[in-house]
This record gives sequence, C-alpha cells and structure tokens, in this order.
Amino acid sequence: MPELPEVETIVRMLAPHAAGKRIDAAELTLPRMLLGMPAREFAPALAGRAIERILRRGKYIVFELEGCALIIHLGMTGQLTWSPAEYAETPGFVRSITGLQRSKGVHPVDKHTHLILNLAGGERILFRDPRTFGKIFLVPGRAWPAHPRLSILGAEPLELKVKPFLKQAFPEDSARPVKALLLDQSFLAGVGNIYADEALFRSGIHPKTRSRDLRDGQRIALLEAVKAVLRKGIRNSGTSFSDYRKPDGSEGNNYERLKVYGRGGEPCRKCGSILSKSVVAQRGTVHCPECQPAPKRRK
Ligand SMILES: [Zn+2]
Repeated sequence: MPELPEVETIVRMLAPHAAGKRIDAAELTLPRMLLGMPAREFAPALAGRAIERILRRGKYIVFELEGCALIIHLGMTGQLTWSPAEYAETPGFVRSITGLQRSKGVHPVDKHTHLILNLAGGERILFRDPRTFGKIFLVPGRAWPAHPRLSILGAEPLELKVKPFLKQAFPEDSARPVKALLLDQSFLAGVGNIYADEALFRSGIHPKTRSRDLRDGQRIALLEAVKAVLRKGIRNSGTSFSDYRKPDGSEGNNYERLKVYGRGGEPCRKCGSILSKSVVAQRGTVHCPECQPAPKRRK
C-alpha cells in the first residue's frame, strides 16, 4: 500500500506537469470508487476547471481546482500516472530523462484504469487500481481539510516538533501495541506497515510494546526514527514492493534499502540474527529479536 513517501513522490513528480493545466474532460469508469455524489454529476463538475495546486495530506492526494478539490486515496494498489500529449496514443511507453522507454509500470488504459483526467493540450492523468480499494471524492471550495476523512488525520510526521508532540499526543493509558499506534492515522498521518516496521527497527523498539510502557527517551527515538525512515523513503522515491509506481511508470528505489519490511527469515543487516515474522495489529510484522528485545512491562 502506498504510504507517505510514495504519495509524496507522486505529488512532487505530478505537480510540475499538472499544476496550472485545465481539465478538459474527466472519465470515471468505476462509479463505486466515487464517494459522496452521484457518478453522473462527477465529470460535469470537473470539466473546464484548472488545477491550481497538488498537495498531500497523510496518504491523500489533493488536487486543488478552481472552486473545489479533487481528492484521491490510492488504497492498496492505486497508481497515478501521467502521460504526455505526444505519446498519449502510444500506450506502454513513457518519456524519461533517458529518452522514450517502454515501462512495465505505465499501462495503456485498461480494465483497471478507473479515472482519466484529460488535460487541455492532450496530456492525461490516469488512475489505475487493480484491487479497487482506492477512493475518489470532491469537496467544494477550499473546505477539504474539514472533510470527515481528512479532519480525523493526526499530525504530519515530517512537520512534527517531537517534544511538544510527546505531551500532546501519546495516549498515556494505551495498552495498544506501539505498532498499532503507528498505524493509527489519527495519531500520525501517512505511516503504514512498511515505515512502521522500519521505524520500530531503527529505534530498537519491539512492535508489541504497549504504548504506555514506552519511556520518554524511547518515544523521542521512535518519532525521530519515523521522520528519518519517511525522509529516506522520499529520497529514494518510494518503495515498490508490489504495485506502487511513480507518475512516469517507473519503480521507487527504497525497497532494496529496507532493513526489516519484507525480510522475515533473512538475517538482520545490523546483527545477523534471523528476522522474526509475526502478526501485530492484524498486520504482517517483521522485527529483529536481538535489536528489538521483548518489552518489559511497567506498572
Ligand atoms: Zn538485529
């Protein structure tokens, strides 16, 4: 599932192509991905509107348009790609800095392409999502931060001031495992399974540690680790574990740099112990039994 670094990469790559462009026509082919309005009203509501800005909040991509915002959540397998005008009819090819290339990531419009934004000038933004857990919705004006799906989101980890956040946001009485807390979007927005496991490894914290048992020093280390692994993910333009692709169709480079996620049964890159695989907070979880010792419970 695309997390903060993947969504941030998409936004940063898409923005120079799409900002300032006008949407000529929108085609929505899977109405159930659209929330909050009848599908027949969707395309007319977008036609003719200019894209003013593209930004990210948590794992949501926000297209600020003239008079409204188009919001996309990529779900588990969503891909948002951009196809240039001159190659729009040559599916399977993308222009990259090294020239025109065939890409296994950019697909021609196919049965998994559920939304097409046709921009003035012939460029297109394609939303493709094989497992269809993605979501699309429109919010009038500039009220998107108050939309129920966005207003519940917690702090943006990259903008986090760690010490004030410690007092304000850690639930003191929580018996939840810290892994579950990290996945809770109302705590920190944008962290998912990959970066939660990576941050726990980096801070030496066992994923099953109860939140209330974390010492202040561990909390600080954990939050700093969250920021560090997210920044590293962005630097490597995201983790392509399965479906995630950049807007030009290419894969991110962070997967081979992960320390624990996807590496259960393999040796720890730090101490050589075999990484342990388990289920925490209903999610597959990998940790190092040596570097992340089992938690001691506090009273
Ligand atoms: Zn280790």
